[in-house]
Parts: sequence; structure tokens; C-alpha cells
Amino acid sequence: MRYEKDGQGVAVIELHRPEKANAQSVPMTYQLNEAFDRAVRDDDVRAIVLAAAGRHFSAGHDLTDPARYTETDLCVGTWAGWAAPGAEGRLAREHEIYFDMCRRWRNLSKPTIAAVQGKCIGGGLMLAWVCDLIIAGEGAVFQDPVVNFGINGIEWLAHPWELGPRKAKELLMTADSWTAREAEQLGMVNRVVPDDQIRDVAVELARKIATKPALAVKLVKSAINATVDAQGHEVATQNSFGLHQLAHAHNEVLFGSPMDPSGLPANIRTSDPLWNRPGSSDGPEAAPATTSA
Ligand code: ZN
Repeated sequence: MRYEKDGQGVAVIELHRPEKANAQSVPMTYQLNEAFDRAVRDDDVRAIVLAAAGRHFSAGHDLTDPARYTETDLCVGTWAGWAAPGAEGRLAREHEIYFDMCRRWRNLSKPTIAAVQGKCIGGGLMLAWVCDLIIAGEGAVFQDPVVNFGINGIEWLAHPWELGPRKAKELLMTADSWTAREAEQLGMVNRVVPDDQIRDVAVELARKIATKPALAVKLVKSAINATVDAQGHEVATQNSFGLHQLAHAHNEVLFGSPMDPSGLPANIRTSDPLWNRPGSSDGPEAAPATTSA
């Protein structure tokens, strides 16, 4: 994770695992959380840009991160007990590192802008969607492939608000990807810009917002997030998260794996020990196609 200030009221946080296409490991989750906390506690920071190193914004959740299983000493929420047997440990872990973190980051008091290049897959969508604004490069590609793995989508199922309910159903049921331009038409991203200008545009936009009265900006964010919550965002995402856990448990009973292995790419099925481990008890939703690219 990299963190820098521009001297003009903007903090740029950079996901920095380019060799893993910025797949979200547990350590990265907490490093990102710390970086967000650092930015909101710094009175000189009035806007935050979330960027990513390398070709891709994020390939999703890291399938190969062993720390996902039992480490709870880093917990900032109340869902500890990741090592608990049955569905309990997975529920606790995913509640903390996916669902609650997304809620927390989405409700940061300061404005956030995601600068998205390349692939933004699975859990990568969650990292972009928690931000208030999204600047996407022309080559950006988005996808939630998780239905292929026997699950109703990623843990934070904000798709109906991000894409509209009709397209959300299509893009989840088909697991198809969508382009930056399509995302713009759907209202999921604010601007599509040349790939070599993504971060510059995001920082310039952040600087402009940073010149506005800080409280007014915070209140705009709070008011609009509250509007979306009044539309049912919080309750619906909670419900979807419960269904997600049901799907993991169902797959565990049928396949001994939290995901239906028939939908996983062969290289993941055969090479990743997590998916060949008896009694495997986790459900990362990554983007194997991206990770292997
Ligand atoms: Zn999951």
C-alpha cells in the first residue's frame, strides 16, 4: 500500500500488489483500512484518491492468501472467531473483511475517488464501488464472475444500485463483463478517460473538491448515502450477504468446497491447494482469468 499527499488537500492511496493484479489479501485489506483512517484523521486531507499500481485495478479476492483462514488479531469490527468450525468461521471472516469493511469505507467522512484501469473483477468491484466517484480508463473492464462458482455474487451485492436492477440481473446471471463505456452509460462510473490520464483526472477532480467547504462536502456525501440507504441499500446488501453465505454452505455440503468447482477455471481447480484441500472452508471470490493473465 502506498500513501502520499499532494500538498493540495489530496491523499492518494495506491493498492500496490501489481504482481498479483492487486488481488485483495487480508493484509492488504487492513493496510487499506489503515490508509483510509490515516487520511480521514489528517486535517490537511480533504479528498482521497484510491488508485492501483500496474495494469489492473484489482483481480478480486486473493485465492492464495493463507492469512484468510484464522488470523483475527487485526479485526477492527466485532466479527472475530474466524477459526470457528462449520459455516461460522467463514461468516465471521467475510463479515469483517468484506461486508463490514465495505460499509466502513463507503461511509468515510471524506470524499473518495477511485481511479480504475484494466480489469476490475469480483471483489475489485467492491473496492471501486465504496468510493464516491469513479474515473475509469477506456480499457477498463468490469465483471462479477461469482455466479459461475455457484454463488449469487460478491459479498457486497450493490449491483442493483450500481447498474440498475435489470442490467444487474443480466450481468450477474450471465457473469458477463462490461466495458468502461457501458459502465458510464449505466451510471456506474463518472467519467471515462484515456488510460494514461486516469490518475491525473482523478487527482484534479479531487483537488477541485478539496477547495470546497469541507463540511459541505461531507454533508453531501452523508445526505446521498442516507438517501441510498433509505432506498434499502443497507438492508438489501445485508440480505444478499446472508444468501451468499447460504451458497457457500451449500457448496461446502455438495462439493467440499465453498465454491462449485465446475465453474472454476481448470488452472485454479487443479493448481490451487485451497481448492483441493479436504474440508476447505473459505470462499474467496477472485478473478482467476485476470489473475492468470
Ligand atoms: Zn464469500
